[in-house]
Amino acid sequence: MTSFPRKLLIATTNPSKRREMEQILGAANLNLELLTLESFPDAQEVEETGETFMENAHLKAQSAVQLSSLVVIADDGGLCIDALGGQPGIKSHRFLGESTSFQEKMTSIFKMMAEVEEEARTCRFQCAVVIATPDGRTFECLGVCEGRVGHEMLGEGGFGYDPLFALPDGRHTAELLPAEKHKISHRGQALACAIEVLKSLFDATV
Ligand code: IMP
Repeated sequence: MTSFPRKLLIATTNPSKRREMEQILGAANLNLELLTLESFPDAQEVEETGETFMENAHLKAQSAVQLSSLVVIADDGGLCIDALGGQPGIKSHRFLGESTSFQEKMTSIFKMMAEVEEEARTCRFQCAVVIATPDGRTFECLGVCEGRVGHEMLGEGGFGYDPLFALPDGRHTAELLPAEKHKISHRGQALACAIEVLKSLFDATV
């Protein structure tokens, strides 16, 4: 049996995603010290060369485990819109250029979808999470949140594409309180699975 220090490195450089991951993992009473890449000044941005969210999450996890020799949790995710052939998908962050604001990205999406009828405005947020251990094991978790592309930006909460994402009850994810979003979100679901993996991983080493 391998024993790990009770530390978990959250391997994301996106401050909004990191905040949500810290909130969700922090509320799970895992009795783990949560670290971020800010504690590792040598950390480099990982090139997202994978063709799926899961492949990119593996790339981020492997890079972080090599750097830290700790148990790490990495994620990749984004918004997939059916009427746009799954776009922005794995390019969610870079859609229409990295320097384009989310306000501009969402305004362009509304224009691209101006003629798309209600039933065809389906979309989903997806989140792939990988846990990697210094002894070479990896564990995968997935979360999906179904919704529709709304007709305007609503809400002040969340981040990224949350103001355009309409849930079945009509609210946009940016209108939810953090705890409400985590209960139903792609990230909340993927991390609920990851929390079970972490419990068995660390409890097997005490
Ligand atoms: P990455 O995983 O850092 O490559 O980027 C994922 C991108 O997907 C983020 O920058 C956001 O644009 C988008 N995204 C992922 N999760 C959410 C979410 O919960 N709300 C809104 N946008 C999200």
